[in-house]
Amino acid sequence: MVRILVSNDDGYHSEGIHVLADALEVLGEVWVVAPDRENSAVSHALTLQRPLRLTRLAERRYAVDGTPTDCVTLGICTVMKDRPPDLVVSGINFGANMGDDVHYSGTVSAAFEAAIMGIPAIAVSQVLGEHFSFVPAAHMARHLALRVLARGLPPGTLLNVNVPPQPPKGLRFTRLGKRRYTEGVVEDTDPRGRVCYWIGGGDPVWERIPGTDFMAVAEGFASVTPLQLDMTHEGLLRDLEAEAASWDLPS
Ligand code: MN
Repeated sequence: MVRILVSNDDGYHSEGIHVLADALEVLGEVWVVAPDRENSAVSHALTLQRPLRLTRLAERRYAVDGTPTDCVTLGICTVMKDRPPDLVVSGINFGANMGDDVHYSGTVSAAFEAAIMGIPAIAVSQVLGEHFSFVPAAHMARHLALRVLARGLPPGTLLNVNVPPQPPKGLRFTRLGKRRYTEGVVEDTDPRGRVCYWIGGGDPVWERIPGTDFMAVAEGFASVTPLQLDMTHEGLLRDLEAEAASWDLPS
């Protein structure tokens, strides 16, 4: 029997995670371990400074007072310790996780945590728009889950999926796009007259680069971007090694 761990960063009570879990039930036994509250943009944070509580809410359904990374860790090491999951699926996130934003995303980080632990993973996000539904994203997740269960993924990799607000025309395999920062920080005054700041006030603007996740979604397709844990830049590594031969470094 296939075992699938589902998590997210929007929290256990978000709609997207339940639509996803229901869609994956036909593939095997689905376990949900998710944060007990909103945890978007916490990235890959791991809680080390306080104990964590795991609350059993129903059969194979758990909430954790921690981050998405905490949830995947407890899911694999505690909840499913008898036999680790064959696949981890994170989402369906309420909102896009494309381009540079994958670095802030708790949804994508939950999938990266699985990749670190040697388990194939998929992150799924729903791009927002009028009259969107989580159902097409859940179907897309089920198709990709079947493929990953059958053929696996290379070690240290995951699939990052973004689904457009209108029913997708199909899927495209993409690379990460590039975001241009607009009003990154908004300055205001609080009711007590003190200056305060909000990060992320402006609408994100994306560069129209062909082949990117952003372009695929803008053209009505679901994007599937393969990501890797190893962020080493091979070209710069070679350049530095070659250049360092002429550096006068103390040995
Ligand atoms: Mn989120």
